Amino acid sequence: MTDILPMEPCSICTEPVERHTESYCNACGRLFHLNQREDLPGKDCGSVSLSETHLALVFMCSACGESAESPVSPALEAVLDLSEAALAAGMSERELAEAAAAGRVSHRRTAGGSLLFEREAVEALLRARGPA
Ligand SMILES: [Zn+2]
Ligand SMILES: [Zn+2]
Repeated sequence: MTDILPMEPCSICTEPVERHTESYCNACGRLFHLNQREDLPGKDCGSVSLSETHLALVFMCSACGESAESPVSPALEAVLDLSEAALAAGMSERELAEAAAAGRVSHRRTAGGSLLFEREAVEALLRARGPA
């Protein structure tokens, strides 16, 4: 009896993934090639690195690796809208809007009525709340 697995194709190059190159991206969860055997030929469609914060191996497909290495724009990153800021702060949009209304986080209100937050202000709010 041979051991045949229903191998899914690699999400990067769409070729079948062998058992020794089977890796799952920690960012998007998709299957990709990463040769884990030095003695066997195999493709690399991503990379693996050691996370210093979690002391664990982090698998990253090349699609996610590229987007992680080239952030869209530092200027864009510095200002968050309500939903982005709520995500960053781990709060609901309503909680964050209330915190802004109560003056607990510095913010700006656009002419259209949207709330904008500086990343630093959100991080300061997080520090003020302490660990959840
Ligand atoms: Zn591949
Ligand atoms: Zn990925």
